[in-house]
Amino acid sequence: MKRKKVKRIVIFGLCLSLVIGLITWLYFYHQKVEVILVKDLTVPYQSSITNLSFIEKVQKGKILTKEETIDTTKLGTKKITLTFQNQYGRKETKTFEITVVDTIPPEIKFQENLTTIEGNEIDLLKDVTAYDDVDQEVKVLVEGTYDFQKSGTYSLSYVAKDQSGNETRKKFTLTVEKKKASQPNTNTTQPDTTFTTKKGFQGITKNGVTYIDGVLIANKTYSLPSNYGNGLTQDTMNAFNEMKKGAQDAGLNIEIISGFRSYNKQNTLYNNYVARDGKVAADRYSARPGHSEHQTGMAVDINSLYTSFENTAEGKWLSNNSYQYGFILRYPKDGESITGYMYEPWHFRYVGKELATKLYNNGSWITLEEYFGITSQYE
Ligand SMILES: [Zn+2]
Repeated sequence: MKRKKVKRIVIFGLCLSLVIGLITWLYFYHQKVEVILVKDLTVPYQSSITNLSFIEKVQKGKILTKEETIDTTKLGTKKITLTFQNQYGRKETKTFEITVVDTIPPEIKFQENLTTIEGNEIDLLKDVTAYDDVDQEVKVLVEGTYDFQKSGTYSLSYVAKDQSGNETRKKFTLTVEKKKASQPNTNTTQPDTTFTTKKGFQGITKNGVTYIDGVLIANKTYSLPSNYGNGLTQDTMNAFNEMKKGAQDAGLNIEIISGFRSYNKQNTLYNNYVARDGKVAADRYSARPGHSEHQTGMAVDINSLYTSFENTAEGKWLSNNSYQYGFILRYPKDGESITGYMYEPWHFRYVGKELATKLYNNGSWITLEEYFGITSQYE
C-alpha cells in the first residue's frame, strides 16, 4: 500500500513538471523580437540605402533577412518586409514603409553678370537653364527690382522651383550702364598675420584665408572671404575619382551629392535653416556663411545626408578606407565639442594622404582641431 502511494506521487510529480515545462517553453517560444527603427523613414531620391539601414536596434532576437540595396530611383512610399527570429527559434516578419522624397533643389546655369545700356531691354531669362534630378518641371522667376531706363547696378536673384517645392536661389547682377565707360576698381590687400597653435604648428592668414602647417582651415573660428573659391580643387576631384574606383572594386558606388558651395549659396542655406529650426539648432549642423568647409573646394558630402549612412556598406567602407585616398571623416562621432558640428558620416575633407593617414589613426579618427591644437568656435 505504501509503495503504491509513493509511486502515484512520483508519477503525478513527473506529469506536473512536464506540463510546467511545456507551458514555460511555449511562453518563451512566443516571445516577440523587439525591433527599434530609426526615427526618420524618409530618404532622399537616389540615396544609397539598404533595407537594414532603418534598424536602430534588435533585442531578444536577430535579423534573418539579408542586407540589400533599396531602389530609390522612384518617389513615393515603399514597403519593406524583414524576417526576424527570436532566441528560441520562432520566426516572424515585420513590414514598415519608407518614403522616397525629392530633397534636391534644381540645378541652375546662368550668367552671374548681365550688362546692358540705358534704355536697351534684355531678356533676363534668355541664358538661364534649370534641371532637376527627378526630371520634374522647373519654373524660374526673377526676383528683385530693376529698371532698364535707369543706370545702376541691380542685385537680383533667379528663383528655380521644382514640383516638390525644392527651391534654388542664385544671385546675379544686372548692370545698366550709362554710355560712359566705368572706372576700374582698385584692389586692397590685407597684411599677412602669422601665429603658432597650441600644438606648435605655424599658422598664417593671407588675404583672409588661414593655413596651418600648409593646410587650409575653415571652421567656426577660421573663416573664408566671400569671394573665395570657384569649385572643387583639381586635387580633390582627382582624389575623389581614385576613391570612387576603389569603392567600385569593392562593389560599392559613391557619389558626391554636395561639393563646392559658394559664400552666397551658404548664406541662403544657413538663413533658411535658421528660419526653420532657429539659430542654436542650425549652428549644430550648418555653417554660417564664410565658415563652411564646402567653400574650400576640398569637402564633399557623399551619397546621403542621414546618420543611418554609417550603417550602409558605403558608409562603413568610406570610414575605413577614405584616408588611403587623402580624405578624412571630418566630423566624427562624439566630436561636436571639438569640431563644433554633429556627427556627419557623409562629410569628407581632402587633406592629402600623409595627413589623412595620421588622422585616421587606425580607425579612431582624430579631428583637425585636435591635431593642430585649434578651436572651432564663433566669436
Ligand atoms: Zn558637408
